[in-house]
Amino acid sequence: MKLGVVGGSGLYEMEGLEVGKLERVSTPYGPPSADYRVGRYQDVEVVFLPRHGVPHSIPPHRVNYRANIFGFRELGVTQILSISATGAVNPDLKPGALVLLDQIVDLTSGRETTFFDGPRIHHVDFTVPYCSEMQDIIEMAGKETGVPLQRGGTYVCTNGPRLETAAEIRLYSGFGADVVGMTGMPEAVLARELEICFGALSVVTNMAAGLTVGRLTTREVVGSMRDAHKKLSVLLTGSFRSLCLRPRSCDCGSALRDSSL
Ligand SMILES: [Zn+2]
Repeated sequence: MKLGVVGGSGLYEMEGLEVGKLERVSTPYGPPSADYRVGRYQDVEVVFLPRHGVPHSIPPHRVNYRANIFGFRELGVTQILSISATGAVNPDLKPGALVLLDQIVDLTSGRETTFFDGPRIHHVDFTVPYCSEMQDIIEMAGKETGVPLQRGGTYVCTNGPRLETAAEIRLYSGFGADVVGMTGMPEAVLARELEICFGALSVVTNMAAGLTVGRLTTREVVGSMRDAHKKLSVLLTGSFRSLCLRPRSCDCGSALRDSSL
């Protein structure tokens, strides 16, 4: 199983990871956010993509999610791990917490959300939006490396780029949301449409609007992400080999079966 990781640009600076070549991929949907970084960790190959480009210049609503996911497939990636910064809606979560997501509420608009715009049409099952096998492996890596993480969490995806109002966060809390972010969709469903396993690890960088006093600042987000980098690196490198060497017995690889009329 070849692994792709999509996330912040600092993620490929990890101990023991050698980033070899850059791969430029062209797709029918336009260019991906950046060249893909092909890295090697011990004996496995991992492909990285900085979602917001290099330098960080593409806002969440402008990311070409279709090109990014399609490009991974062109490189032979069969599972993608998404890393993203989120705000805590659940007051029990605190900045620095890692959450292995298991559900999504999609509130985005105006984004290209499918590879099947017709005449070929598929309605993929999305009851369980993330690959449970990837979750099992990352949870196990957390236990083995001593990096605490919460398994299970509902992610609300907003369109951005503005942050949320306090009333919106109260509403999302009523949805049962744990965290809020701007990039989780349509990334997850596009991977499902290409029958790629998709897992997501959310880094809580701040408390969401209304759960903290004062204004939310991007400095706070960037600072928390930097603080979380060390444990994220330990967790990810602890997961890479198991993810790449696992036999695939989940349903992700047959997501299109029985999904067309
Ligand atoms: Zn899977």
